[in-house]
Amino acid sequence: MKDYRIDTKCVQGSYNPKNGEARVAPIVQSTTFSFDDPDQVADIFDLKRSDAFYTRLGNPTTTHLEGKMALLEGGVGALALSSGQSASFFAIINICNAGDHVICSSSIYGGTFNLYDVSLRKLGIDFTFVNPDASLEEIKACARDNTKAIFAETLSNPNLVVLDFEKFAKVANELDIPFIVDNTLSTPYLCRPIEHGANIVIHSTTKYADGHATSLGGIIIDGGNFNWDNGKFPGLTEPDESYHGLRYVETFGSAAYIVKARAHLLRDYGCTPSPFNSYITNLGLETLHLRMERHSYNALKLAEFLEGHPKVDWVKYPGLKSSPYYNLAQKYLPKGQSGILSFGIKGGAETGKELVKHLHLVHLVVHLGDIRTSILHPASTTHRQLSEAQQIESGILPEMVRVSVGIEDIDDIIKDFDKALNAV
Ligand SMILES: *Cc1c(COP(=O)(O)O)cnc(C)c1O
Repeated sequence: MKDYRIDTKCVQGSYNPKNGEARVAPIVQSTTFSFDDPDQVADIFDLKRSDAFYTRLGNPTTTHLEGKMALLEGGVGALALSSGQSASFFAIINICNAGDHVICSSSIYGGTFNLYDVSLRKLGIDFTFVNPDASLEEIKACARDNTKAIFAETLSNPNLVVLDFEKFAKVANELDIPFIVDNTLSTPYLCRPIEHGANIVIHSTTKYADGHATSLGGIIIDGGNFNWDNGKFPGLTEPDESYHGLRYVETFGSAAYIVKARAHLLRDYGCTPSPFNSYITNLGLETLHLRMERHSYNALKLAEFLEGHPKVDWVKYPGLKSSPYYNLAQKYLPKGQSGILSFGIKGGAETGKELVKHLHLVHLVVHLGDIRTSILHPASTTHRQLSEAQQIESGILPEMVRVSVGIEDIDDIIKDFDKALNAV
């Protein structure tokens, strides 16, 4: 499968039925699996074999999803989880303990910001949030002796900063720490962070991977391209007493990170996706290439329309020539800039709320990446737990409205916005 183009990998990647087997990767809705030989089960517990034996740690339907996402992102392995939040959580705690520190872009999803700034801080892991547009020197100056990773989003939710991969990868390289990227909004169809120097990629598959607003999920993909044996990651190089002194790097080589995430974190914390959700997400991925193309096309058309509308103050979409991220978008997202745009409506937050009431095709939902066009006011919803200062630091302005442009006919979407804008 590796040699096929990405569209083919979306449709057929990681599942190839043998004679007489189901054409579509089936749902194996079972918590457990049956064995004849007790020695085989003992070997599984010792991580000498990777057969599914209990669904908390692995399930054939979920294995297909993991295989496909690893293939699409170009990684050596993947771990599917029950939500994007658990992926953001596991990606850090797999390599950080109390007393460690992480450099993180300040322009990230509000849920990730809270998880890191509040919950992980309580567990003793410290974060420095840095403007992703800061210079290489400024970002590097955030580093300490205990810095273990650098984290950012390809296309940030919701203010659409396009990540300067080259700059971040250079910082990570010079500090000899892994570069972790949340690729939720761009998906591997539009951008593959590992090709631009990332070491670990995560997703909320709830968004574009599923694409139909049906199933929560998250995933971590391991690029297999970081040398963990540099003295900074004892959890991967020193003996794990809960596995009879096994050393992950020595035993699993380039897949050490992702094996540990499953064997250690999934075993202890759970956060396992249901086979049914993995099945649905698998189905979604089969059309990822078609959807992302149309989401991107429609979003650019709507952004251009809004930019010319007298009731609109400003429009943010990295595909617009007026965007400060246009050049970075052409470099890292040349096939399209995804389906999310934001705009500032004249009259501020109150007019924004009024606008929502006048839309008919477009619904107010707390979500993005659905095939149906949706709208949201971040300051009063997804980012409301942040203080006003934190909101502004994250680029969330009070008049900002976020649109997740669907794959309906663009003329109908524009008509709906035009009518609503003229009514407020
Ligand atoms: C939604 C989202 C998450 C969290 O994912 P859930 O599946 O809702 O837990 C993480 N990162 C980004 C960029 C998101 O958009």
